[in-house]
Parts: sequence; C-alpha cells; structure tokens
Amino acid sequence: MDIQYVDTYELTRVGQEVRGQAPIDRFERLLEDLPEQAGTMVSWAIKGEMDSFGQRFLQVHVRAAPMLECQRCMKPFEWAVDSRNRLQVVKSEADLDAGDAADTDPDDVIERILGSQRLDVLALVEDEIILCLPYVPKHDVCPSLPELLEEEPGSDSVRPSPFAVLDQLKKD
Ligand SMILES: [Zn+2]
Repeated sequence: MDIQYVDTYELTRVGQEVRGQAPIDRFERLLEDLPEQAGTMVSWAIKGEMDSFGQRFLQVHVRAAPMLECQRCMKPFEWAVDSRNRLQVVKSEADLDAGDAADTDPDDVIERILGSQRLDVLALVEDEIILCLPYVPKHDVCPSLPELLEEEPGSDSVRPSPFAVLDQLKKD
C-alpha cells in the first residue's frame, strides 16, 4: 500500500482511517540537516473524524526512528518518534487563523490544516516528525564520555594526599 494523497473531506465524512509506510530516505526536507540514516521505515496512520458540530479533525499517528547527531559527542544516535496529534481541518486560509481568542491558552489551541481533496500525506507526516525533533539533539548519556574520563591519567597526583593535608594541620 502506497498512499500519497488523501481527500480530507472524504476521510472526515466517513471516519475512515488510512495507514502507510515509507522509507525515511524519502523525507528529504527532514533529512536536510541530519546525518546518514539507518534505512528505517516511517509508519503512519491518519483517521478522519467529524464532531456533532460538523467540525472536521484528523488524528495523526506517526512512528519513525531518525538518526540525529549528538551535539555533545558528535556521534549519531537513533531518536524514537511516536507522535499522536489531532489537527482541525478547515476550509479556507482565513479559517486557519480564525477563532483564536486572545485569552486562550496557547497549549489549548488546536493546530489547523487546510482541507484538500489531495492532501500530501507524506508532507504532513514529515511536518509531524520535524516537530518532534529536539532543538539540540543529545544523548541522555554519551557512550564515549566514560572512556574519556578513564583515559585521563595522573589526575590523582595533582590532588594533595590526605596525609599531606594532615601534616599541614599538625604544623599549625
Ligand atoms: Zn553524545
């Protein structure tokens, strides 16, 4: 199954779900600043919904495993993305910004996308993955740092021995 486009109106009207997979190498915009990838697959599911007010939504679930470059040790590592997002489908550009009351908590504002009979699914999936990337990618614990610490010889010799310190105290 290789779905590239969906009709958001049809999807939300019938509450249909579509799923697909694509090799991560296909997401050129995502990979622009990333190191070499490990040939993983990106999988996604998009489900249409319509509420009782006739508002249309897409439930987007994306799973991916892009390789990022750690900004501390400069080694590549896998970043697991498992993202669920709910987008409101609107009919016009004007609707994209409409309805945001000034006192609304920005966290409560639902993301909107423009409805289309030919929504580019991979572009939507790519946006979702990009949103999940850390601003400064880093290992939790860099694998090479402990080695570096061990390799540092003679660090003990700089420190005065506890006995030398005691001798000094006795003299005073
Ligand atoms: Zn690292």
